[in-house]
Amino acid sequence: MIISSPSGGGKTSICRRLLTPLRKRRGWRFSISYTTRARRPGERNGREYYFVDEQQFAHLAKDDFFAEQFKVHLYRYGTPRQPLEQVLNKGGVILLDVDVKGAQRLKKVYPQAVTIFILPPSIKALRQRLRQRGTETKAQLRVRYDNAREEMKLFQRFEYAVVNDELSKAVRQVRTIIEAHSCRTENFNAEHLLKQLS
Ligand code: 5GP
Repeated sequence: MIISSPSGGGKTSICRRLLTPLRKRRGWRFSISYTTRARRPGERNGREYYFVDEQQFAHLAKDDFFAEQFKVHLYRYGTPRQPLEQVLNKGGVILLDVDVKGAQRLKKVYPQAVTIFILPPSIKALRQRLRQRGTETKAQLRVRYDNAREEMKLFQRFEYAVVNDELSKAVRQVRTIIEAHSCRTENFNAEHLLKQLS
């Protein structure tokens, strides 16, 4: 499940809310990316991201460790391949919080992935959210804001779009998309039923 949005769109909060203990037991998980960006207060290595330096990142990229990797804003971000392969082989749901370029690359490599774009209710609201977060300098904010506008122009390339004006409503809509997808016949585990019918 590829969940993309401009910075400040709210995808991190949505992913966090979706991963309740019950769903984790049912095999839902979050894809933890690698990044060269510095850790923000409250973030933990191995929970939000694996924080690595440029050299470590370059090594991993060379070893084909990433399913996709891009420079986003000012830093490098990459999705490790192995957890995706594991879900493909063993089933479950994996949530990926990536930028628009990463989403498009992943969809090419994994066509069975579902792409969801989270939209802020307005450009004004997005600007406010970015500023309120207080984690970026003015220059960093400018980069994120400009990139956000460019990314939003591409939302129609995604299969689904959800407006995040009220967090609990957006979470419900994303959950509904994921659950509907798992009920599609091609994703339905019918082995047990087919055995009884034969
Ligand atoms: P942040 O630094 O605010 O956590 O994330 C910045 C941007 O990088 C967000 O748009 C986020 O979705 C994106 N991002 C996080 N991990 C990855 C990744 O592994 N690959 C790509 N392409 N983008 C990522």
